[in-house]
Amino acid sequence: MKTLIVSIVTPDGPVYESDVEMVSAKAQSGELGILPGHIPMVAPLQIGAVRLKNGNNTELVAVSGGFLEVRSEKVTILAQSAEKAESIDVERAKEARARAEERIQSNQAEIDQARAELALRRAINRINVYEHRF
Ligand code: ATP
Repeated sequence: MKTLIVSIVTPDGPVYESDVEMVSAKAQSGELGILPGHIPMVAPLQIGAVRLKNGNNTELVAVSGGFLEVRSEKVTILAQSAEKAESIDVERAKEARARAEERIQSNQAEIDQARAELALRRAINRINVYEHRF
């Protein structure tokens, strides 16, 4: 089976590096599925799960936006933050979700609303990845 090298990198350092058969990610334009032999490409990502498939095994990484680049059998994802399912602190994410929901409900300035909505999406994404709900 042909494979691609995938690396997921954040400002804090590398989070994931492995050979995989297929990588799926949520681009701004919709769900992307990348297989070996894919043409070179750069795509902005949404807050979402990256799925890394090898045989019957699928690993999940929560990413908070960023960019995906495909170049010569290598996929690089640059994200502001990224966590593998097993390194997610789900209690922290649930607290972040509650804080964001409170902020959204209280009538604040528009800019704070937008920030709270992004924080809410990051928290929900982490909870879903932790619970393997993808
Ligand atoms: P919080 O309000 O809990 O800090 P956040 O969405 O504002 O959440 P980020 O700014 O996206 O947090 O991330 C800051 C750093 O903390 C990153 O390194 C990120 O990987 C890490 N991080 C954030 N939430 C979690 C979590 N629930 N489990 C593990 N790491 C987390």
